[in-house]
Amino acid sequence: MATIFTKIIEKEISADILFEDERVLAFRDINPQAPIHFLVIPKKPIATANDISQEDEALVGYMHRVAAKVAKDLGADKHGFRTVMNCNEHGGQTVYHIHLHVLAGKPLGWPPYTENLKVN
Ligand code: AMP
Repeated sequence: MATIFTKIIEKEISADILFEDERVLAFRDINPQAPIHFLVIPKKPIATANDISQEDEALVGYMHRVAAKVAKDLGADKHGFRTVMNCNEHGGQTVYHIHLHVLAGKPLGWPPYTENLKVN
């Protein structure tokens, strides 16, 4: 199913694109959670991490290499960065086209989502 990321790939809506080739696109997140926050998406629509198939293994590995390349371009290689892929409702996924969040630019701490760890 088409998502907003399909529209970004098709250039129907604009994005702050940091890297693009025939397989992937990297662009800044519209609602950044860190000084550097961009997304790496495959051009092939894959809905969730549950839907990554054996034939997608190289593509998902490539997404990580592009994440590191763009992080380096932005000067975030030395101090480092965090990659996150949310899956489905409990993972906090809102766009059903897989994407790597890449967060950097300050110490991010651990655990990453403490507010979600409270047991009521
Ligand atoms: P997730 O919640 O893991 O599915 O992440 C979806 C991410 O996409 C969120 O961090 C949003 O801020 C981001 N996002 C949604 N629409 C856009 C857009 N048009 N351009 C850039 N980032 C977007």
